[in-house]
Amino acid sequence: MTSLPGVVPTVELNDGHTIPQLGFGVFLIPPAETERAVAVALETGYRHIDTAEMYGNEQGVGDAVRASGIDRAEIFITSKLNNGFHEPEEARWAMDRTLGYLDSDYVDLFLIHWPLPTLYGGDFVSTWKVMEQFKADGRARSIGVSNFQVAHLERLAAETDVVPAVNQVELHPYFQNKDVDAYGRAHGIHTEAWAPIAQGKVMDDPALEEIAERLGKSVAQVVLRWHIDRGNIVFPKSTTHSRIRENFELFDFQLAPGDTEKIDALDQGEAGRDGPNPDVFDYIPA
Ligand code: NDP
Repeated sequence: MTSLPGVVPTVELNDGHTIPQLGFGVFLIPPAETERAVAVALETGYRHIDTAEMYGNEQGVGDAVRASGIDRAEIFITSKLNNGFHEPEEARWAMDRTLGYLDSDYVDLFLIHWPLPTLYGGDFVSTWKVMEQFKADGRARSIGVSNFQVAHLERLAAETDVVPAVNQVELHPYFQNKDVDAYGRAHGIHTEAWAPIAQGKVMDDPALEEIAERLGKSVAQVVLRWHIDRGNIVFPKSTTHSRIRENFELFDFQLAPGDTEKIDALDQGEAGRDGPNPDVFDYIPA
């Protein structure tokens, strides 16, 4: 990891591209509010936006980037292939549509949003091969997966050529997703942690409150700093302007000795998972 001008460290991915370790997530931000929220994030200094076709707000992201006047090349944009478009032809169509919404020739990172092992005859391999084409033709600078379990990653390793640059999975103090994270670390697949503050559920935790109070920081900042120290890529979501700024202020303090271990100890294993289990998740948006 290196620090760039500004404060956010960058992480080098297995294909040589770099990604800011801290970004801004836009899940559940209504389309009409997205441009404003992303504008505030960009003004704050974020240069990495995590969106998805499923969120219905790629257009707002594209509008905010264009209106910001910041060079497109300075902003890292991730989007994701929606669950209804895993068939190769549909994936190509969906990619075109995503680029149209973003008003860009490329995305920095494109992910298969969910593996959907119970749909499409369990064939996420053909979908990944289309992702490889997106990387080859430059429409996606990097490609990766999201919500892939170890078995899904092993299957890609056995049957395809390009190792995913990242795996974006649920990961926070209560669900540290250790097996998936360890597999990624061993195979050059960088972990991106979604719901890094457990969608707000960590806020009242007494152990986290004690650390936050002692350091003069918020619980969210303490947890996000813990992610940064582990090397996770994170992109907390907020539509509250003060929180968008708060979540960016992670680099002027450090956790004290022993704090990391206290947060590590909050892991509840599978019981701490809050979102869907990728082995059975089969949601196709209407
Ligand atoms: P987060 O863990 O980022 O939590 C967001 C929630 O926490 C919101 O309710 C927000 O409220 C609140 N919040 C944010 N900052 C603070 C703060 N400083 N203090 C108190 N509360 C705060 O959850 P997300 O699910 O949004 O995850 C982050 C991103 O990960 C998403 O936006 C998306 O980009 C990605 N993601 C990917 C998934 C996947 O399947 N690949 C699934 C889910 C998320 P408010 O907005 O009201 O301020």
